[in-house]
Amino acid sequence: MQPLLIGDRRPAGAGTISVIEPALARPMAEVASAGPAELDQAVAEANQAFPDWSGNTAVARAEILFRFSDVVRAHVEELATLEARNVGKPIGDARWEANHVADTLRYYAGAADKFFGETVQGAKAGLDITLRQPLGVVGLIVPWNFPMVIATWKLGPALACGNTVVLKPASLTPLSALRLGELGLEAGLPPGVLNVIPGPGAKIGQQLSAHPDIAKIAFTGETETGRRIMATAAETIKRISLELGGKSPNIIFADVDIEEAAKHACASVFANAGQDCCARARVIVERKVYSKLVEAMAAVATTMRVGDPLDDKTEMGPVISASQRERTENYVALGRQEGARHVCGGERLEGDGYFLRPAIFADARPGMRIVDEEIFGPMVVVIPFDTEAEAVAIANDSIYGLSGSLWTNDLKRGLRVARAVRTGVLSVNSSSSVHLQAPFGGFKQSGLGRELGMHAMEHYTELQNIYFETN
Ligand code: NDP
Repeated sequence: MQPLLIGDRRPAGAGTISVIEPALARPMAEVASAGPAELDQAVAEANQAFPDWSGNTAVARAEILFRFSDVVRAHVEELATLEARNVGKPIGDARWEANHVADTLRYYAGAADKFFGETVQGAKAGLDITLRQPLGVVGLIVPWNFPMVIATWKLGPALACGNTVVLKPASLTPLSALRLGELGLEAGLPPGVLNVIPGPGAKIGQQLSAHPDIAKIAFTGETETGRRIMATAAETIKRISLELGGKSPNIIFADVDIEEAAKHACASVFANAGQDCCARARVIVERKVYSKLVEAMAAVATTMRVGDPLDDKTEMGPVISASQRERTENYVALGRQEGARHVCGGERLEGDGYFLRPAIFADARPGMRIVDEEIFGPMVVVIPFDTEAEAVAIANDSIYGLSGSLWTNDLKRGLRVARAVRTGVLSVNSSSSVHLQAPFGGFKQSGLGRELGMHAMEHYTELQNIYFETN
């Protein structure tokens, strides 16, 4: 059984988590699960490590983070294999993610000594300065769809700014977080700076959000969980940042290459088997090319290679669990009941893993649950529009506002529509959402605060004003 990581100790915890490999639907590891006592110990260790870690110069912290990045880079293949097996994502994607973890640590190592306070010009003659002070112990609560990537988006800025960390991975995917913790120690992170405690969200995550010695919770996961964490954190006025759900629009105008747009439309929603908060799950397409696009998407989806995540040729692996598969299947059934047109997909593959064929529903419209709700599985809806204003209205008709794309060769229209769509991230003629150096996060019920880029550093510091009287 893999133990917890608290300081440099490896306690057994209060229980056990059986970690399932979704491609085989079989256990692949046993991991210790923290109880309230282990959580308190982890917070105490992080508290104890805080004065020295935050008292270091930024340059000294950066040196350790650069080493952390190098150690991760040396273990890319191991981490990628772990993530591919535990999440079911294709090995090529998992390799990209492991490299992205190293890149993220490297970026924030570089950021550590480039995030400054100010000299304030005031009405008084003295010297007025602002300092960026670390918050203290930060609790990181992360989901199962991009376990080590999302952990590192929080870990990088938290550590660079001088905070210490208690990381609670999702119970379905605790393996890469524990390995990251070990690699951190190997790279020279002082014990207690990064503690990793898998455990049940409803208990350990909840307790972390309520803990009086936790200064901030950085959370990624479901909007409903985020709401609960926000309410709990209010008791102690904790700082919070939230990356939540999405139902991202993908607006396609008739003036683009439709075959190309169809390839991107499929890739952007079926990557990670649709379990991606940025998945462009609502394709909104100009009526003139509507039939052609649906046909082209069907051709891509029906020939996608779904299968073994460890095979380099695989384009889509299984979903994470039996319940996630059932959830997607229920939405496939609902799509039919709601009167949308089932174009293809939604069937299980033969064998034991949690595999589904990618599903497309056409003739969908806002108000249908398959359009309004986040499915978080390999299913996409296609909606026609006639005018630019209608496209924008459909795109914005959502409680979410995380990501989105629009496709057009008309530059003026591209700018107009991009500014009108209410999402935190918007890509024009691209389906990418994540740019390490740029802010990432949601409008509306998709979240609070921004990750990545230098903007993330603001969320891991307090601004302190110091005035020196000189008269
Ligand atoms: P959950 O919100 O269920 O879980 C996320 C994390 O929170 C897990 O570690 C979970 O622990 C923990 N947790 C569960 N309940 C509580 C609680 N009451 N208090 C504190 N922590 C708790 O989401 P999923 O893991 O199911 O992830 C899927 C969701 O995440 C989707 O809705 C998706 O859109 C969203 N997401 C958003 C992203 C973004 O950047 N905006 C990125 C990725 C996903 P445990 O695993 O033990 O239940």
